[in-house]
Amino acid sequence: MLADIISDAGRGMILPIVQTGDPVLRAVARALTPQEIQSTKIKELIENMRETMRAAPGVGLAAPQIGESIQLVVIEDEATEEKTRLSAEELSKRERKPIPFHVLINPKFTAIGDERVTFFEGCLSVDGFAAMTSRFRQVSVSALNERGDEIRIEASGWYARIIQHEIDHLNGTIYIDRMDSKTFSTVANKAKYWD
Ligand code: ZN
Repeated sequence: MLADIISDAGRGMILPIVQTGDPVLRAVARALTPQEIQSTKIKELIENMRETMRAAPGVGLAAPQIGESIQLVVIEDEATEEKTRLSAEELSKRERKPIPFHVLINPKFTAIGDERVTFFEGCLSVDGFAAMTSRFRQVSVSALNERGDEIRIEASGWYARIIQHEIDHLNGTIYIDRMDSKTFSTVANKAKYWD
């Protein structure tokens, strides 16, 4: 019985993901205060966002995508061939490696160097589409974690792409603002003509 209660407490709810056109995706999200970070509401929101991201499935989710205009993102990438349907070679080309679940609150990034890489990218809020999008290959991130501790991350490859994509969401930016628009494709046409 106790075990049931504990496991239920750690299980979040799957929330609807806001789709493009909703103004919440175009707003600049507000920063969280240290007190808010410790609150039950935010702890529950993090659990719900984890479940929502896993169910989608996705490798990152920003709070505006579930309708909350606050600076909070969750990230997790198993990066397996099975989950991504990419070969080991394709994963390696993207510099895509497993990233454990973590939370970034009030994050800021700066590019490390000016090297950029271009790959197809999609978004859970632009469901069913993808486009070639250029991103910095390496970034440095400062943020708070879910305990309110300051953290600093140096990320490269696909992880750096996820971070840039999610922080964009906190600034009201979507990948379609940055994409090479002539490559904008349905997921089915991407598989048919581009992969
Ligand atoms: Zn997105």
